[in-house]
This record gives sequence, structure tokens and C-alpha cells, in this order.
Amino acid sequence: MQTSFTLAQLADPDIAESEKILRACVHCGFCTATCPTYVLDGNELDSPRGRIYLIKDMLENDRPATVEVTLHFDRCLSCLACMTTCPSGVHYMHLVDHARVHIENTYSRPLGDRLLRSMLAKLMPYPQRFRLALAAAVLGKPFAPLIQAVGLKRLAAMLRLAPWHGPHRPLAPQIFPAAGPRRRGRVALLTGCVNDLLAPQINAAAIRVLTRSGVEVVVAEDAGCCGSLVHHMGRDEEALSQARANIDAWGALEGLDAIVITTSGCGTTVKDYGYMLRTDPAYAEGAAKVAGLARDITEYLATLPLAPDRSAPGLTVAYHSACSLQHGQRVTRQPKELLVKLGFAVKDVPDGHLCCGSAGTYNILQPDIARRLREHKVGTIEGLRPDVIAAGNIGCMTQIAAGTKLPIVHTVELIDWATGGPCPPALRQASVAFDDSGPSAAAG
Ligand code: SF4
Ligand code: SF4
Repeated sequence: MQTSFTLAQLADPDIAESEKILRACVHCGFCTATCPTYVLDGNELDSPRGRIYLIKDMLENDRPATVEVTLHFDRCLSCLACMTTCPSGVHYMHLVDHARVHIENTYSRPLGDRLLRSMLAKLMPYPQRFRLALAAAVLGKPFAPLIQAVGLKRLAAMLRLAPWHGPHRPLAPQIFPAAGPRRRGRVALLTGCVNDLLAPQINAAAIRVLTRSGVEVVVAEDAGCCGSLVHHMGRDEEALSQARANIDAWGALEGLDAIVITTSGCGTTVKDYGYMLRTDPAYAEGAAKVAGLARDITEYLATLPLAPDRSAPGLTVAYHSACSLQHGQRVTRQPKELLVKLGFAVKDVPDGHLCCGSAGTYNILQPDIARRLREHKVGTIEGLRPDVIAAGNIGCMTQIAAGTKLPIVHTVELIDWATGGPCPPALRQASVAFDDSGPSAAAG
């Protein structure tokens, strides 16, 4: 694609980077076939190619974002399916991140939109505040249909996604020592803002598998939100400040082999810290180091000699590949290989490249599109008639769980169970009875 930025514009490193990306696009349109918003409604402006044209026009002409442009970017899930499909290597993620910052800086959203976004940005990355909000949501949850009926769709979506139980407590900073005589490694665990409040069993399972395998696990003092939530809203300064806090926290730890992440949405952002802070002289080096150490939990576990502790489970697992894992991090093989190695029968979900509609806060901010994507996803999963759904991202787990009665667990919960840990709570509560004596004890 030809561009016509001026030299003065190109002096801005973000514009210079976006120009490089724009020039790589050859308008072939292959990406449209795998873009969920284009697949749903067939509008070119809701396709990656259409959005790329909008970005080019906005940046080249130094135009403030309009209501129409903002709408098409708000509808983008940042699922990055377009990046996996693109034959020209267009880095849509960096382009759309830039567009979102431009929108945030040049467009004044309606008051209700501004308030909702600010509330999400000021609550969700802070576990203590988010915990209080979740406790209130439990009380409001029964009124979700009423709230939907009076037209407050986003509030209703938020309440529907909230759990029926009260929030749990975040994991305190501490060190979990490696078990056994031989220490194989030392990792920091990013606990995630939402994971521990909604599903503490995920990090607990990760810690058990790691320590059982001889890996010391550190939950660092002062590590917090990875910044992805506000990053996807274009709130750049907040995202960078959260990234810097994590770089300081993990940088203070010695002898780390990896920074292990159990929420793939966060993993994609941490792996991008090097790019996000590339022009910050005080943090560029530390950011690149942290990004280089970041690993999805399954990526790291695949390097360890895990073996089943129990006889083959024989359960059929529908593996939902989170967009952030398959498109954002290109981690596709390891989760399935680990499950198969441990005795599970794994089925790929048809149309697996399409997002489930979770996408950070997307299912709150764009509830209609998110619901349609969930219905499609749940239909394809249920068609496989699995015993359980596994996914590597709490956002997807919450989104899919709202549309199906099938039990849904994090991949690491199954890995933990098969290697000596307890039965995942979702399986225990499912209509089929399971117990701690192992997956093979499952009664059909
Ligand atoms: S597939 Fe890549 S090169 Fe083709 S239109 Fe989409 S982004 Fe551009
Ligand atoms: S990130 Fe996803 S929704 Fe956005 S343009 Fe790419 S494929 Fe479409």
C-alpha cells in the first residue's frame, strides 16, 4: 500500500512504525475471511482491510477520529485472526493499538460511554477494588433481565458475566518452593487481575504442577495488572505505567528462567512490552528482557518432563484455543500435546480461529456482537459432545460458560489433575461425578 506521510509526521516513532506496517499491506483481502466481525455482517469497514484504510486515512491526514471510525474500531475484537491469515506479515496488532490511542486522544465519546470505560479502567486492574465491584455484582445479578429490558444492555452484560458466588481473595506475594531434591527452575507467576478473584483454582493448579516438577514459583511483591485491559482501550499512559511497575517488580528477582502466565490475554501484552516501551530509555532494556522471559503456562510446562500420575483419563476434551494464545502468541501445539500425553482425548473446535466474543472487556462494551459470537462458539463446541471444555484464558472461560452447561476448565487444571492434583471444581460440580482418586475414576 502506498503512503504519503510527510517527513515531519515520520519523525514520530509511532507514525513511522505504522507507516511501515501500512506499506506491507497489499490489499489482497485474505484477512477478511477469518475476521469475526466481517464474517458476521459482511461490512468491509468491519474487516481488517477496511480498518487498515481507515487508520491510513486518519493518520496520514492527521484527522481526529469520527464517530463512524470509532464505531468500526470499537467493533474490532483485537482477536488478531487477521494476523495469522495475512500472507504479507502485516502487524495489525501494533496498527490497531496505535489507532486506539489516536481515538482516545482525538475523539470525545458520549458521556455514558466515557463513564463505563473509566469505571472498567479504574476497577478491573486493581484486585481490591474489583473485588468490591464483584461483590456488588453478585447482588445485582438476578436483576440482569430487568436491566436488559430497560435498555441498559452493557450493564446487563456485566451482571450476566459476574459469578453467582462472591469473589475470592487475590494470591498474596510469596515464594512456593520447588518440591523434591532437584530444582529444575525458578519462575515468576503473573497471577492476573481477574483469575484469582473468579477462579483461584487456576493459579493454584499451575503452582502445584510447577512445584511438583521441581520449579520454584515466585509471586512478586508489587507485580500487578499487565496493562492489557487499558491498553486495548487506548489508555496508553496507564498501560505503560502498569507495564513499568511489573518490569520493576520482576527485574528485582534474581535467577528467573521464565515469567509464567496463566491468562493468555495478559501473556500477549507482556510479550509485547519490548515494543511498547522501545522508546523509553529507562525501561527499553528491562522491557525487552521481561518480554523475552514471558511464557504461557503450557509453553513452559511443555519443556518439563511431565508424566501422568494416574491411569489414562479417557475424557473427551474440546480444546478452545483462545485468540490471544493462537493468534497473539502462536501457541497452538503445546496445550493439546500436553493433554494428549496425559491421556485425554482432545478435539479441535470447528471454526476454531473465530473469537468467542470475550476479548477483554469486549463482551461488556459490545454485548450484541459478543453474544452472537458466543452462540456460534458454543454451538460448535457442543456439536463435539465433549465431556469438558478446556481453554487457557479466564475471559474465554467466563464468556463460554455463560452459554453452556458443559463444564469448562483451564488447561492447567486438567494437567494438574492428571499429574497428581485434585479434580477441577467445574468437573466436580458437573452432573457427571468425578473424584480426587483420578480422572479414570470418572463415572459415565
Ligand atoms: S491479508 Fe494482509 S495484506 Fe491482505 S489485505 Fe489483509 S492485511 Fe492487507
Ligand atoms: S483483530 Fe479480529 S476483529 Fe479485529 S480486524 Fe483483525 S480479525 Fe477482525
